[in-house]
Amino acid sequence: MTKRLWIETVGCQMNVLDSELVVAALRRQGWELARDGSQADAVFYNTCSVRQHAEDKIYSALGRIRLEKAKRPELVVGVLGCMAQKDQDLVRRRAPWVDLVVGPGQLHQVPALVEAVRAGGGPRLEVSLDRKGASREAIARSFESYDPDRDPAMRPTPFQAFIRTQTGCDKFCAFCVVPHVRGPEQARAPDTIVAEARKLVAEGCREVTLIGQTVNSYRWADGGRTTRLSDLLLRLDALDGLDRIKFVTNYPRDMTDDLITAVRDLPKVCHYLHVPAQHGSDAVLTRMKRGYTIGDYMEMLGRIRETLPEAAVTSDFIVGYCGETDAEFQATLDLVRTAGFKNSFIFKYSPRPGTKAHERLADDVPEETKKERNRVLLEAQEEASLAGNLRFIGTRQRVLVEGLSARDERREADPGPEGTAQLAGRTMCDRIVVFDAPLRLVGRIVDVEIHAAGAWSLSGVVADGLAEAVPLEDPPAACGTALDLHDIALPRPAARGPEV
Ligand code: SF4
Repeated sequence: MTKRLWIETVGCQMNVLDSELVVAALRRQGWELARDGSQADAVFYNTCSVRQHAEDKIYSALGRIRLEKAKRPELVVGVLGCMAQKDQDLVRRRAPWVDLVVGPGQLHQVPALVEAVRAGGGPRLEVSLDRKGASREAIARSFESYDPDRDPAMRPTPFQAFIRTQTGCDKFCAFCVVPHVRGPEQARAPDTIVAEARKLVAEGCREVTLIGQTVNSYRWADGGRTTRLSDLLLRLDALDGLDRIKFVTNYPRDMTDDLITAVRDLPKVCHYLHVPAQHGSDAVLTRMKRGYTIGDYMEMLGRIRETLPEAAVTSDFIVGYCGETDAEFQATLDLVRTAGFKNSFIFKYSPRPGTKAHERLADDVPEETKKERNRVLLEAQEEASLAGNLRFIGTRQRVLVEGLSARDERREADPGPEGTAQLAGRTMCDRIVVFDAPLRLVGRIVDVEIHAAGAWSLSGVVADGLAEAVPLEDPPAACGTALDLHDIALPRPAARGPEV
């Protein structure tokens, strides 16, 4: 009998990819995707610990699934990912009906664990070592690499895919839980990455996004030769059938000239650099242990602008960080008003147990102040984004058509393959473009004449005259508040994720 699986994913691209891999592994064991949790034999939550809100959502969802589990005790309920690693036993203390708690370094065990639970083996907890509990080598080994076959059905679109370049992070920014829940930074071999890309292309993938917590820190040493991200891009750019390459997320101090030059010189590499500044004040950056000053950041930005004047640069910001004064917030506001970011993902600070900031610094900015600073910064970014987008009116942009626009998705429009709908795609510099065109163009690359611009998207007509000018869509939530962006349920169209 078919076994059916339902998986909900919260968090960043890493989790989106992890969910795809878990589903692929389970499909090989005969599982199929269910329409919803009520029809599933196993319900998994792939979780995020970066903000309290993301954890609260999972505990609420676990509260709801409790009723289903009471009706059907054979239902397997699993908590996967960062929250499983961070909270471990706490998950089952708060939700004793959970059968599986599996950290991100143990996801390869999920198929066997599910079968063990179904066979009556009782609940299972599988997590990696704590970062303070053993040697770096032992901890790294406990976060096992997990790269089985892919599953196009779980991807945002069949023609776009994430590829992991490395796991974990060693930067230990004071506010961030990622190094604790994702383990030490470990690169994957370049040959493995290129082989994965080649396989994806053979399956019809046109765009790959390389993902790492600090993707531009990528280094692989082998036989006296070191492969950097720029070397990897060079190899991927040579793959026939691949049209676009992106990479996220970048760490400012590792934005080297060879990488910037590679982006300029390699035709398939998108001119899009997500390089989170996190704050505009040196004092706050020091409290965050980010490892650079705002002068360093501006110097890096200057090098990008000099080599890639048209590149879209985007950032993340935290408002209301421990001790943030009005003057310090003003420094962030000034940065957003002057740096010309295409967009920024803005987060209210949320203390994370286990981090230095949680242990040593008071979360002393009132919630109302955080909200207000969030609003003000978002407004400033909106102005900057609009100014940046207006420059595109009258230009012709090459767009990879991703699917229905957010507007037509909300309407659940179904015009059939030959019918016209409002479609959305992205330029080589990651700007969203909406236009009316036949659905059969989804997955194709088309030229679009840009006729209008809003803060969050451009609109126009397909250059061969297939479509008419369309009104601007509403600002997509993905470009506004960070929360909507960071909390994604699958399957649904791609959303660009923040750094953490
Ligand atoms: S904010 Fe980014 S660089 Fe800093 S610790 Fe977290 S994942 Fe690493």
